[in-house]
Amino acid sequence: MNQFILADCTTESGALSQLHDGAVVKAGGIDLLDRMKEGLESPTKLVNIRNISSLRGIHETAQGLNIGALTTLAEIEEDPAVKAHYAILSDACGHAATPQIRNMATVGGNLLQQNRCWYFRSDDFACLKKGKDMCFAFDGLNQYHAIFDNTTCPSVAPSSAAVALLGLNASVELASAKGKRTVAIKDFYVHPDVNPMTRTVIAPDELLTSVIIPKPASGTRSAYQKYGEKRSYDWATADAGVVLEMDGNICRKAAIVMGAASPVVMRSPKAEAMLAGKPITEETARAAGKAAMEGAQPLSMNGYKVQLFPVAIYRTILLAAGQMGRDPSAVG
Ligand SMILES: Cc1cc2nc3c(=O)[nH]c(=O)nc-3n(C[C@H](O)[C@H](O)[C@H](O)COP(=O)(O)OP(=O)(O)OC[C@H]3O[C@@H](n4cnc5c(N)ncnc54)[C@H](O)[C@@H]3O)c2cc1C
Repeated sequence: MNQFILADCTTESGALSQLHDGAVVKAGGIDLLDRMKEGLESPTKLVNIRNISSLRGIHETAQGLNIGALTTLAEIEEDPAVKAHYAILSDACGHAATPQIRNMATVGGNLLQQNRCWYFRSDDFACLKKGKDMCFAFDGLNQYHAIFDNTTCPSVAPSSAAVALLGLNASVELASAKGKRTVAIKDFYVHPDVNPMTRTVIAPDELLTSVIIPKPASGTRSAYQKYGEKRSYDWATADAGVVLEMDGNICRKAAIVMGAASPVVMRSPKAEAMLAGKPITEETARAAGKAAMEGAQPLSMNGYKVQLFPVAIYRTILLAAGQMGRDPSAVG
């Protein structure tokens, strides 16, 4: 790892004044320090924002929920208001990584973590995401890669929290010395077709300050489940987030989100259409899972995801609707 200056900040304005000339924000440091140790990045200055108390905490407002960027995944999982009204988010934060990591990892850092593609993560491979002209995953080991939107760079969206926040129509607040702006999660991530080297629209001089979640409509129920190879200490091979707006047993409106399916966390309008205006039953939940796979284009080694996602979606719909308990084969 290279030598660097650590600028320890206690205010937002102090941190923003340090963000120039290649300085990089450090929150929990889990992903950033890994990337530095792996030789992927060598910033000369880290701006430590961990001690900025104004960026921490969960606040219920008349409009919904405001979560400070430094709030940890464990704090979000355990918050009573999140558990009661935003189960998808509590489930997603509570099943990411491991208990130790969840105590350290912040929601801002989780949304901004880099992809896990092993070719990108190894400094032996100069790939598209490093500004070169080749993706090694197409002819290489691609079992964990994308089954949708995978023609440029098929590394998958890694954030569990993003799955929940897309389903909840959340936004993030970004601040710079010039002012603040709000960006919807659906517009926050940059597809590799647009620019493989950029993950999000955040600028180098901006801080992600909070996550804003609108109040759910009456009758909303939600859930998230993660599937993978290991019980813990790993990212998902497939994860599903479901938000159902219910009138009794009839679904007014649904959001079905897939993580680890594409380079950018995605909703499935085809699956959502299978539920809108219908009762939630095993049959409609299965139809939604099947519809979600329309247009999937698996690579040479990840065809299993086309079978795994429909099961993940079906079981998560029934979990959200209160018709099934947590799937014992889900992980995290
Ligand atoms: C073994 C293992 C398993 C894991 N499994 C999962 C999983 O299942 N699901 C999942 O979602 N994650 C998983 N993770 C990833 C982990 O949750 C993230 O690395 C962590 O959430 C990052 O948060 P952090 O606060 O440590 O971010 P940092 O490492 O501090 O920052 C990450 C990136 O965000 C930038 N950044 C951070 N905060 C801000 C901010 N407020 N404003 C501007 N820029 C900012 C940093 O510059 C950096 O580029 C796993 C990690 C490990 C090691």
